[in-house]
Amino acid sequence: MSKRDYYEVLGVSKNASDDEIKKAFRKLARKYHPDVNRDDPKVAEVKFKEANEAYEVLSDSKRREQYDQFGHAAFDGSGGGAGGFGGFSNGGAGGFGDIFDMFFGGQGGFGGSRQPGPERGSDLRYDLEIEFKEAAFGKEVELNIPRTEECDSCHGSGAAPGTHPETCPTCKGAGQVQFAQNTPFGRMVNTKVCDRCGGEGKIVHTPCKTCGGKGKKRVKRKISVKVPAGVDNGSRIRVSNAGEAGTRGGSTGDLYVYIFVKPHKLFQREGTEVICEVPITFVQASLGDEIEVPTLDGNVKMKIPEGVQSGTILRLKNKGIPHLRGQGRGDQHVRVKVLTPQKLNEKQKDMLREFAQASGENVNPEQKSWFKKFF
Ligand SMILES: [Zn+2]
Ligand SMILES: [Zn+2]
Repeated sequence: MSKRDYYEVLGVSKNASDDEIKKAFRKLARKYHPDVNRDDPKVAEVKFKEANEAYEVLSDSKRREQYDQFGHAAFDGSGGGAGGFGGFSNGGAGGFGDIFDMFFGGQGGFGGSRQPGPERGSDLRYDLEIEFKEAAFGKEVELNIPRTEECDSCHGSGAAPGTHPETCPTCKGAGQVQFAQNTPFGRMVNTKVCDRCGGEGKIVHTPCKTCGGKGKKRVKRKISVKVPAGVDNGSRIRVSNAGEAGTRGGSTGDLYVYIFVKPHKLFQREGTEVICEVPITFVQASLGDEIEVPTLDGNVKMKIPEGVQSGTILRLKNKGIPHLRGQGRGDQHVRVKVLTPQKLNEKQKDMLREFAQASGENVNPEQKSWFKKFF
């Protein structure tokens, strides 16, 4: 199957800004989030992953440059081992000025005809951007959430302390009234919102001074949220009762925190697996060595087996991402990249020629292509 162009996936132009790319990804992440696509979760999952992959590349200036130049080929695995883990990048991520973005979603609460009786408060959405390592190991964050809460002075009634709202005498608290209408088909009985109380069913004679009779106030509430270890792009954390206050005794809405993970300059991630590339010299590759490899837990020693080939993937067990639900961690996959020596001095060149001779190789620059000896 041919891969879709990353720009096309995100629906942005080739010269889209970092901000446009981020916005486009968030829009898609929301659209294809498994939680909102219960009808067709399989398709949504594929689309979600596709968008995620496009975002990981295009949000990283270095990888974007590689992609612009070589297309998907820039990240095709070279040589043996699992391919497609993506190119090695050591450029900084950069470009993320704003850490937090606020989105307010209304899920009930707005619009429609006003029904008397309790009404649940709206849910809120907060997009939280976190570091790669924070996604791996979790984090406790304190969010400043602007939201509507019940007024403390009147406890939501809107009536000044010591007074009580009166039950509307016109609708008797129902919030709506019936009225008769003569139509060509005869007399019809309809209902409409009570004019006198505006559908509230109650009349406040002495409004609460604190909230002006609204029964609610806008506040910025500090809410601490535990981001569990192992979250990934698009993970959603629900904080019960941290949304908007309900109306007429209705329950409080919830807060949904959506996670966006910043790309890391050394590590890439596939589920619970961490992938990185480590350059070694051809001497290390030939003779074997023990090298230091960066992991999420800091540097660890890793054995390079004698005669390792470029592109070989070595595994560091349990150095990956913790499982979001459950125990244990994934592994880290280290792709070895053998560097060919450059700018050799005469002594080094002589030694290599000597080495070639000892190997029975004839390295004469005058010689025709190496494959000649097969014909
Ligand atoms: Zn009040
Ligand atoms: Zn009324």
